[in-house]
This record gives sequence, structure tokens and C-alpha cells, in this order.
Amino acid sequence: MSIDRATLVNAAEQRRELVTTLLSELIQLDTVNPPGNEKIACDYVGEFCTARGIPYKTYDPGANRTSLIAEIGTGDSPRLFIPAHTDVVPVGEGWSVPPLGGVVKDGYVWGRGATDDKGPLAGLLAAADYLKTVESEFKGTLMIGAIADEEHGSDLGLDWLLKECGVRADMAFVPDIPSHLEEVEIAEKGLVNIRVTFHGKQAHSSTPWDGISALSALAEMVYLTEAWKPHGSDIKHPLLTPTTCVVTKAEAGIAHNIVPGKASAVYNLRYLPHQTGTGITAELRRMAEHIASRRKGITVEVENIAELAPSEVKADQPVAQALYRAIHEITGKEPKFVGIGGATLCKQLIWAGIPAVAFGPGDHNMPHMTDERIAIDELVKYTAVVIGATLRAVGK
Ligand SMILES: [Zn+2]
Repeated sequence: MSIDRATLVNAAEQRRELVTTLLSELIQLDTVNPPGNEKIACDYVGEFCTARGIPYKTYDPGANRTSLIAEIGTGDSPRLFIPAHTDVVPVGEGWSVPPLGGVVKDGYVWGRGATDDKGPLAGLLAAADYLKTVESEFKGTLMIGAIADEEHGSDLGLDWLLKECGVRADMAFVPDIPSHLEEVEIAEKGLVNIRVTFHGKQAHSSTPWDGISALSALAEMVYLTEAWKPHGSDIKHPLLTPTTCVVTKAEAGIAHNIVPGKASAVYNLRYLPHQTGTGITAELRRMAEHIASRRKGITVEVENIAELAPSEVKADQPVAQALYRAIHEITGKEPKFVGIGGATLCKQLIWAGIPAVAFGPGDHNMPHMTDERIAIDELVKYTAVVIGATLRAVGK
């Protein structure tokens, strides 16, 4: 990289106002998912790119769920993809500012998406504003992503782009882990949702002997699995916490005077790379069938209703090292390699064969919360990291 640190930091600092305006305006575009309507964010990003001569392509699966990818550089490899998502979660109650107002005060930009993930998108665009002016320094290509449908599983977003639209890259940095730029996330647990449904026999509650309560069976199941640890849950992983299991939903009963003929619950597990969703489901099924077998007239179904496999890259892989060094260079602090129990776009990328790691500005408590906000100082620092990381990864 032939551009020195002071130049990078300066380039970001000169874009303080730009990044603030970009974020404030992005927050004002209502892309709450559902329904998403991410097209309005892509129109905005498209105009930004056009004004700077940055070519881009939009991808539209229908229903205004558009994604956009812009490119700076030679068009050749190596190709670095930085995808930020444009959709946000619902605003919820109790805000002290208008949640889609994009309010700027006390050194922060406030509003839904400030950290997750419109702040990172704004910084990425501010970085692009500079990087376009030093395009002759590129040997490869930066792909700037404004991606739809992250908060609802990516079926119409990155998953679709990778599987149906031929989007390819050599590596990716996912700016969606708010950690004050102090962490590089390289491992994500797997997730499986399992629905357990007991069937009994409905009856009038005044003659309960005519019925068989499915709810009683479910209650026993929930009680007996409270401390359940699927096989292999305690094998230590260097970055990930042990497997977790929580019953997150339960449903039973249709009236206060009917013996419940059906009762179901959803188990949400976050599991380790050496486990599988199928294995965990089979284990839970055995327990459920055992309970059903001891209760006359009770049957049970156990279904794996959603699954995201674990994903991981090693700390010494080039993609992890490039981001680590870029953060260190700008912040002067050595970031920590971490693993998480949640899921980012890294998963879809890694499954598609694209090594990916995650990072981000802002506080980890902010996403999905009331009064979500991000410090402008941090946005500027993040902008510098994006510039440095890009030049390090795809610069001459
Ligand atoms: Zn996010």
C-alpha cells in the first residue's frame, strides 16, 4: 500500500460531514423489514454513485426488495466485497427521538439502523467517495454492497445474489458487528429451530376423562429438557461459548373450557461447529418420543423448522489478517478475534466459498434497541478503516 496512514485518517476526517449526512438521510428512508422496501435505499445509493462516476448494478427479485453492488478498481481479482445491509428491524416503543428522523445531536446520529447497519453503509459510501479518487492505486476491485433482507434470513438478499445472480468475490469484510472497532469476528455458531408438537385428545373440560391433555405432555417435555445439553455441547471451542438451548415459543389450548388436544413449543439452539442441527433434532426427538410413549393416547412430531450451519475462518487466514492489520493501523489498538452466537452475512459468504470476517463501529448493545445511535467520531474512524482495509486488500 503506497498511501500512508496520515493520508487515510485525513481522508476520512475530511468526510465527517458527508458521513453524518449520509447516515441521517439513510435512516429517514423507511426500510423496516418486513416489508423491507429496500429499493428506496438503493435509489439513494445509486444517485450517490452516479454523481461520483462509480458504476453499479442493481438486482431486483421483485416487490421492491432491490440490492445494489457498486465497483471501484480494475474489475480484476482480487475482488473484495464489503456488503452492508439496508433493511432494519421494526422501531418498537419508547424512543426519545423520532426513530426514523435521522436526528444529529450530542455528537451522535440517532435512529433505527444507526449501528445496524446504515451507519456502516454510510461509512462505506464515504470511504468510496475517497477511494474513487485514488482508483489508480488499485490492482483489484472493491465491491460495495447495499444488500436487502438481512434481518429476515437473506432469502431475497445475499443468499439470492450468491445463488441466483452469480455474485462472486475473493474475500469479504462484513461491517455488521458493532464492537467499537475492537473485534474481528471469525466464528459463528450454528442455529437450529425445532418444533415439538404433542397430540392428545380434545374434550370438554367438565369431563376431562374423555380427553388427553397434550399440554401436560408438553409441560413434562419442557421441564425435563430445561438443563438438556445435546451431545458434544461442552467440548471447548477457543472462541465460542458452549451450546445453548432455549424454549422460545409455546402454544396450547383453544378455549378455557376445552382440554388441549394439541400443544407445541419451539426450541432455539445455538450450537458448535462439531455438532449438527440434524443430530440435535434426532436427540430431541428421542426424548419427545420417550415422553409420548409413557402417556397413553399421546403422539408427538418433532420437526427441524430452520437451520443455519456454523461458519468459521481461521485467525491466520489472509482475510482475517488483512482486516486485523487495517484496524490496528488506524486505531493503534490490536483488535481481538472473537466468535458469536448470532449470525451475520459471513455465513452465506463462507458457504459460497468466499472467506469472510466481520467487524464494525458502535456499541454492541445498540442493534434492535430503543434510541439506537452511533458516535460520529466512530463513524469517521470506521471510514478510515474501510479505506485502509480496502487498499491493503486490493491496492497495489
Ligand atoms: Zn445487521
